[in-house]
Amino acid sequence: MPAEFGATPWGRTWTRVVETTTASLPNPLLPKARSIARNHGATLNTEVGAVTAKVVVSGAESTVRIELPAWSEETKTDAERLIAKSLAANPGLAPGDLPDSLEAEFSAAGITFAVPLADQIATCDCRTRKRPCVHILATLYALSMRVDERPRLAVELRMDSATVAEEPDPDWIPLSELDPATFYG
Ligand SMILES: [Zn+2]
Repeated sequence: MPAEFGATPWGRTWTRVVETTTASLPNPLLPKARSIARNHGATLNTEVGAVTAKVVVSGAESTVRIELPAWSEETKTDAERLIAKSLAANPGLAPGDLPDSLEAEFSAAGITFAVPLADQIATCDCRTRKRPCVHILATLYALSMRVDERPRLAVELRMDSATVAEEPDPDWIPLSELDPATFYG
């Protein structure tokens, strides 16, 4: 099966969090949740400590909010150290990328960036009583796709830190640094 979800170790960890709901018995909502995420039915907004989403299913929109606990100061310090070391050892990454080896280093250091369902505070305004509902599951699948595309997001969700800020694009020159006389001349 192609790794449609979890193409990177960063996204895969988030996919695994969703799929722990199948540990005891198959969750019939998962295929539907995957289909919603795959078809861009979940529009995400991410910030430190929270993911919010508008999820549209058959024309009906639901609003999901998932709160994620921030890392402790100690974890944040450890994570920043590992990130700085890893970025120094792996120059020239694409914007938003993080080395796969860093994910393994996080694991070895006991740092988990994906949050188990039990530790998330997830709300949805749909009327289903079942939790997590399909909207919350679709949001988590969409999040794993986003994290696959941009691994830095996995870390940004858990801490506010300049360590993961993007380096400026070397091809980009602020307009103020251009001399109009020569640039337009
Ligand atoms: Zn819902």
